[in-house]
Amino acid sequence: MRLMKALLIFLLFYFFQEINYGQVYLAPNKQKPSHLIQADSVFIYPKLLSELRYASEDNFLQEKLYPQDPGVWLEKETARALRMVDGDLRNYGLRLLIWDAYRPYSVTQYLYENSPNKRYVADPRRGSVHNRGSAVDVTLTNLEGVPLEMPTDFDAFGLKATPVYLGGSEVSRQNRNVLIRVMTHRGFKVNAGEWWHFEFKNAYQHSISDWRPWDGL
Ligand SMILES: [Zn+2]
Repeated sequence: MRLMKALLIFLLFYFFQEINYGQVYLAPNKQKPSHLIQADSVFIYPKLLSELRYASEDNFLQEKLYPQDPGVWLEKETARALRMVDGDLRNYGLRLLIWDAYRPYSVTQYLYENSPNKRYVADPRRGSVHNRGSAVDVTLTNLEGVPLEMPTDFDAFGLKATPVYLGGSEVSRQNRNVLIRVMTHRGFKVNAGEWWHFEFKNAYQHSISDWRPWDGL
């Protein structure tokens, strides 16, 4: 009987949670926010290298989530800081390769609903910093654009993806640490679970958006 009671309380609690939090998603604006710009517009330098993984099937869902490659859209200050990092890296014969930048809110929602492991994807009840245009997923390449060895690929989950992972090859750890150092120097902070995900220092000053750049292309 006591067990039944405990079970009932658990179920009530569970449903209460679901009702109160489970269904309540944000409803961000679909208009283009004024804080977003195309990252290449800030410098006359050669274009930032990008290979947006959600604009292809080369991602953990193996689905194309961006119908067209929209280019690298970011919040203004974030874009400027990222171009500085790319400039810094050239002195060492390196470049940035962008895997993702601004991401519309509805894509975050889709990723969450379809992810086999919800612990590793942004919860749509809070939104992702990518939706604000202040987060970027990046790796390093040489000057010819050939990616350097890193501890994991994009969107790997688990211990190997953390920025403090001590396994794998020494070269991969060195490359990861160089990336973290140059990004940190320009005001970015690495995510505790994903060595490739960086957020700019002003991230929470900007609103979450569901503007879909490819709709206007
Ligand atoms: Zn990210």
